[in-house]
Parts: sequence; structure tokens; C-alpha cells
Amino acid sequence: MRVIVIGSGLQGVTSAWFLARNGCQVTVLDREDGVAQGTSYANAGMLTPSMADPWNAPGVFRRLLHYLGREDAPLLLRPGALPSLLGWGISFLANARPEKFRANMTSNLQLALYSLKVLRELRAALGLSYDQKTAGTLKIFRDTRAFDEAAQRSEILAGLGLHVKALNPGELVAFEPALADVRDTLVGGLHCPDDESGDARLFTEALAGHARQAGVEFRFNTSVLSLDCTGNRVTDVAIYNEKLQADAVVVAAGSWSPQLLKPFGIHLPVCPVKGYSITVPAGMWPTLPQRPVIDDALHAAVTPLGQRLRIAGTAEFAGYDLRLSPARVENLFTLLLDVFPSFKPHLDRSQATPWAGLRPMTPTGVPLVGRLKIENLYVNTGHGHLGWTLAAGSASHLASLVHGERPPIDPTPYRADQY
Ligand SMILES: Cc1cc2nc3c(=O)[nH]c(=O)nc-3n(C[C@H](O)[C@H](O)[C@H](O)COP(=O)(O)OP(=O)(O)OC[C@H]3O[C@@H](n4cnc5c(N)ncnc54)[C@H](O)[C@@H]3O)c2cc1C
Repeated sequence: MRVIVIGSGLQGVTSAWFLARNGCQVTVLDREDGVAQGTSYANAGMLTPSMADPWNAPGVFRRLLHYLGREDAPLLLRPGALPSLLGWGISFLANARPEKFRANMTSNLQLALYSLKVLRELRAALGLSYDQKTAGTLKIFRDTRAFDEAAQRSEILAGLGLHVKALNPGELVAFEPALADVRDTLVGGLHCPDDESGDARLFTEALAGHARQAGVEFRFNTSVLSLDCTGNRVTDVAIYNEKLQADAVVVAAGSWSPQLLKPFGIHLPVCPVKGYSITVPAGMWPTLPQRPVIDDALHAAVTPLGQRLRIAGTAEFAGYDLRLSPARVENLFTLLLDVFPSFKPHLDRSQATPWAGLRPMTPTGVPLVGRLKIENLYVNTGHGHLGWTLAAGSASHLASLVHGERPPIDPTPYRADQY
């Protein structure tokens, strides 16, 4: 079976790998000049079943209003993005109802736990190396109410198979000595040992290398202009000056996926949600953390990636605007030093790399993995804040659907053929 995969981010490359492993002849097309140049380039580097909760937790509307107009807000709505958000936004708010939120969180957790299992198998089988750590994540809290709410949510996740351990401030510092400076501001924390971390771009590059060896063809600097359909089947993928034929097509174009599908009347509810990161050398900092530390109050994560630290956070509804706002970048430096004041003498700002990416977000917070209403057209997108966490599992799941095999997990929550 010949399969064309559009997009060479986390979802495209993992899809290509599992399809090739199942015997497909795969071509990956990307308009960039290499893999993982889109949203998979410099994300926070966390693989977190513990963050399976979608961002529209009950009360999200109140929080959005509260943050309105604040440049340092963790969740920012730019007025210019409002018109394009209308239908999506209504659905986003509707999915904040407690029962919907809980169902969506459960669907994400199911896929996340499966995904981590698949990733571990893949890593062992191929000897993949991507600055990974398997020491879990640590969430720290400075507010008792927020800690109690998170602990309650974790109990729900624990009931579904996730391991979570509550720690008091003393235990937090014993666990992660770099937190000693902020000990007095902490009320507690949660250690989630099932979580992992690692550099998504390094992973994607490494897996693409293995995929190439397995026969996958990568064509870069190749924009897909349109898909041609006859009856209910895609027949051609049009690129500049050429039409490529395939038996099946997988759209894994992240936040740009809806644009490719619109001509067929398929309105994929995927909205770009901008986020920022900075990556800095860890220098000679003696208390380099052993795992990502997520500060709930500051809505920031600091992730050790080899001898680097990545600080990521913020969500901004700003359409497809990828410009770096100096205020948002500065905010990340502030967040880093708020969590780890002892890093200040080791911080070399001249070596910092700022970056912004667009999370492909659905209003449910659950990704779309499966066939569309067109017979041989599939999607693997909409992973939002969990695209690294869910990549391996989504791809393995998708490959079984393309092959007409029984999927490894219940496909219902991720179906895309209703659009
Ligand atoms: C700041 C930030 C922090 C994050 N942190 C985490 C985290 O810690 N853990 C986690 O699990 N997730 C995290 N995420 C989310 C995760 O990074 C994304 O969900 C994931 O990268 C999406 O991967 P993708 O393959 O769907 O999209 P992309 O990586 O964007 O890939 C899509 C590709 O499609 C290509 N493309 C698009 N249109 C066309 C076309 N017409 N023709 C050819 N090619 C095309 C693009 O060039 C691109 O390479 C974070 C995201 C951000 C922004």
C-alpha cells in the first residue's frame, strides 16, 4: 500500500514509522527543509499522562475574562483572533462542563498511557537517544486551594491507573534540592513517576533516520497545494509541478491541517494556540534538576534537556501569528528565576534561544486520529498541549486503522469522520 503522509512533525514522522513497519510504502512531504521544524521544534519536552486534563477545565471562561488584556497572562486572548474563534470557542466553552471535561480527560489519559508504553518499546528496540529522562515530573504549588484542586484531579487520574505521590515542602526539597530557595513559598507538590521528558526534535530526527533506513522517502521544501478527489477517494496530492498518487493519505500537518481539508467541506475543529519557550545552557549549575518542574501558580515548566534547560509556558489565541513578543519572552526568564533563583549566576542570556509554536488544539482537548469521511483520507492531529506525550500511541493506533486491523485502544473518542 502506498501512503503519503503530509507533515514531518512528531505526528507525521511517528505515523510514517508505524505505517512503514506495517509494510506500507511511505512518502513524507513537508514544506520545511527538515523534520520537526514546526510546533515539534522546541516544546516543553514533557511526556505527561499526568496532564491529560484539557485546558478547558470548569471555570475556564471566568479565567479567560480575568486574564483579558494582561500581557503576562498564562492564557491570553488576542482580540484579532476572535472572529476566527467563534464556532470553535463556543464548543471549547461547552466542553468545560464537568461531565464532558472528565470524559475528555479520560480519553487523553487512555491514549497517553498507551503512548508511553509504545514509546518505551520503540526506544528500547531502536536505541533512541533524545536527552530523555525517566524520573517523572514534579508539580509545585504555592496556593493551598490550587494544591487541593490538583490533588483531587490527580485522584481521578489515579483511579484510572496513573501513579501520583503528594509531597510536603520538605520532601519536595529533599527530592529536588534546587527548590531549596523557594521552600518557604511552597505548600506542597505532586510527583508523577509515570511521566518522562526528552527533546521532541531530537526524537523526531532520530526516528526519521530509522524510518529512512526502513524505506520511508522524505521530500522537504515540498508544500502540498491541494488534494484531488474522485468520488469518495483521494487520488492525487498536488505539489508544485507534480501530482503524486497514493492508496491512502494521512494529514499530519498540525495547526495547518484544516486548511488542506476545507475544500472538501471538512471543517476540522483545530485551532492554533501559540506558546513560547526559551532554551538556555545549564552552565555549571550544581543543582541542575533531575526532572521537569512545573510551577502551577506561574503556569511554567522548567525541563532539563541534557546540559540545557528549557522553560516553556503561556497559551495565546493569536491566530497563525508566530512573531515573538519580547514581553512574553521576558516573562519566561522571570518565571525561570522565580522557580530557581539559584540559577541566576549561571544564566547566560546571550546564549538563550527563544521560540514560539502553534499547538493544534481541538475544542474537546482530545486529538483526532482516524479516517475522515473520505474513504482513504486520514488525520493525525489536534494534540494540543499533549502532542509529544501522545505521539507514539496515536501513530501506532493510526497505522492499525489504515491497515483495517483492530486498533489497540477504543477508537471512538478520537474519531474524525463526523466532520
Ligand atoms: C510552547 C509549547 C510547549 C509544548 N510542550 C509540550 C510538552 O511538554 N509535551 C507535549 O506533549 N506537548 C507539548 N506541546 C505540544 C506539541 O509540541 C504539539 O502538539 C506537537 O508538536 C504537534 O505536532 P504535529 O506533528 O501535529 O505538528 P507540527 O510539529 O507543527 O508538524 C506539522 C508539519 O506540517 C507541515 N505542513 C503544514 N502544512 C503543510 C503543507 N501544506 N504542505 C507541506 N507541509 C505542511 C509543517 O511544516 C510542519 O512541519 C507544546 C507546544 C508548545 C507550542
